[in-house]
Amino acid sequence: MSLGAPTEIAEAQAVKTTPMPGDALTGWFDRPMRWVQLTLVENDPGQFDPQFWLDYFRTLKADAACLSAGGIVAYYPTEVPLHHRSSSLGRTDPFGTLVAGCRAMNMNVIARVDPHAVRDEVRVAHPDWISTTAAGEPLRHWANRELWVSCALGPYNFEFMDQVIREIVTKYKVDGVFANRWAPQGGDCFCVHCQANFKAATGLDLPRGGNAQTPARRQFQDWKVARLTELWKHWDASIKAINPEAHFIPNGMPDLKTGGELAKIQFADNQARRGVTPSWTNGRVAKEFRSVMGRRPIGGIFSVGLEETYRWKDSVQSEAEIRQWVAEGTANGMRPWVTKFSGVLYDRRWLPMIERIYAWHAANEKYLRNEWPLARVAVLQSDQTERFHQGAATGDRFADHTLGMYHALVEARVPFELVHEAYLTPERLAPFKLLILADAAALSDAQCSAIRTFAAGGGSVLATFAASLYDEAGTRRTNFGLADLFGVSFGGRIDGPMQNSYLSLDADPATGKRHPILAGLDDTPRIVNGVFRVQVSPTQPFPSPITLIPTYPDLPMEDVYPRIPHTDSREVYLRETGSSRVVYFPWDIDRTFWEVMSIDHGRLLRNAVSWALNESSPVEVTGPGIVDVTTWRQRTSMTVHLVNLTNPMMMKGPVREIYPIGAQRVVVRLPAGVRPSKVQLLTAKTTPRTDFANGVLTVTVPSVELHEVVAIDL
Ligand SMILES: [Zn+2]
Repeated sequence: MSLGAPTEIAEAQAVKTTPMPGDALTGWFDRPMRWVQLTLVENDPGQFDPQFWLDYFRTLKADAACLSAGGIVAYYPTEVPLHHRSSSLGRTDPFGTLVAGCRAMNMNVIARVDPHAVRDEVRVAHPDWISTTAAGEPLRHWANRELWVSCALGPYNFEFMDQVIREIVTKYKVDGVFANRWAPQGGDCFCVHCQANFKAATGLDLPRGGNAQTPARRQFQDWKVARLTELWKHWDASIKAINPEAHFIPNGMPDLKTGGELAKIQFADNQARRGVTPSWTNGRVAKEFRSVMGRRPIGGIFSVGLEETYRWKDSVQSEAEIRQWVAEGTANGMRPWVTKFSGVLYDRRWLPMIERIYAWHAANEKYLRNEWPLARVAVLQSDQTERFHQGAATGDRFADHTLGMYHALVEARVPFELVHEAYLTPERLAPFKLLILADAAALSDAQCSAIRTFAAGGGSVLATFAASLYDEAGTRRTNFGLADLFGVSFGGRIDGPMQNSYLSLDADPATGKRHPILAGLDDTPRIVNGVFRVQVSPTQPFPSPITLIPTYPDLPMEDVYPRIPHTDSREVYLRETGSSRVVYFPWDIDRTFWEVMSIDHGRLLRNAVSWALNESSPVEVTGPGIVDVTTWRQRTSMTVHLVNLTNPMMMKGPVREIYPIGAQRVVVRLPAGVRPSKVQLLTAKTTPRTDFANGVLTVTVPSVELHEVVAIDL
């Protein structure tokens, strides 16, 4: 569904072709496009057929594999004492067999280790390697009571697993080592090493209890990140000393910022939906990773099974659900990585499903090797707000603001990226015209300054609610860090939750016309308000397109009439300086949108984005349905991805079937001076009807089943 007509747009502008910043891509990491992972189980050796898997990898046209090597169980004849060989290993070497088979198919291979659990013989020999509870007891594994949880931050990982990793790289010359569950598991560890190391680093005892905002907890969290970073570097150095081309690849970064600093390649381990999860979630994860990874490759790990709390690890999902999940990742720049546990299969229904997904991917690989996204809108990814900001009022949650903004942008079909708070450099912000602060409450002075510089250079900003009202540690400021940019100052109060409050939509008294931010709302004098609002007062003149109608009784019905029908309290602040435009909503439009999903709020957000953008979008897609639109530049082509999310199971999987949507009109603004030499629809495998004039290409896509790609050779 399209939310009304687009608001006024500036003269059509060609898309910017500034390359996405980031490290130059060297080494093997950027080569593989399709990954496979086989995680063996204890009794697989002797029972499973390695050749079956190698044949399957060949069928999939997979060009890289992650294979079980060691850690909890060794699948090769290890000589490291206490490194448990699979009890059915005998004289075999299944890891070696699979590595050799993959190599013969010119695949890259990384070895999977999992260090998080050990057998009793390890505990007996090295009780200090075991994670210890606050009560001083060794920690049994929560899922398998015969095992013990190892301490991730002590000698078990730094010494024992280091030896295992060195043995694997020496024997098999793998391209990297991938560690699953390498960070602390099962709660905080109070072992002798953690106590001593934390004391040495901070002078403090390990904190017991307390929430994330307490100083001791913060120090503990920082110490854990530092310790994991040290472990990453330690293992990476051990690996490189043996094979300079190889790297350590953690499953999960200590935090996003550290990942951005250290990783050549990253894999997002977000295997499927669980509970209530919107179907765009895998795409969002891709964007989060790219916010720190830039042009470096990102793989999307997905499973074929249900990923619910009850962990049916041998299950198989519906094909529609798996396809939808992978399509969202692919459209958002992630390379697929299918993961399967157990070399012996029970339910084999997934095999042809993945064949179909990978066959499409392989056939269209040329158009999936993205150089950079062409999105002009970016949403600030603020991990520190997530971590330190408890919400501006009871019941207010930062995560709901970002979810609401994300959903609104998807519904508005706006291609967008996430930018990470740690990288607010002019270089990283240069590709974007509009930066959105969806209640990005906790911002440092330096981050505020970077945003101000972005706006001074012609960038636009759309901010909501408590954006910049707190510092990077989550402490409330007396005024917004960006008060000058918003043109308002904090009034000292946050109202809400508000019942039965409205927004008056007002015409300009001078012209009698309504502001373009109200486009499509012409037939109503008012719409519902949000739930929380920040009291602010303007520090300069503003238009007043939206004003507050305060709460009035919602019961008894005889009393339901506005006591104050109109106020001069603005509920949006709109500024223009040169080509820069600033929109500030003092209320929780994004959070309420997530909770209530009012179509009017969606329309208002879409209009606000369009007005703030103040230029033509690089891509506009009109037609029925909910479609996630992304757009990319490759070396000699451009693509527009359309992922059809129109489905009754959009918010809660598994999807039963895919419902194709009707014709979509795709308008693409090509880089200046560039002509399309060929236009194709990669899924339909057809050449669509097109029109090209003044740098604008118009393509009609007759129908989208799940995922269509308009590929434009330049
Ligand atoms: Zn420990």
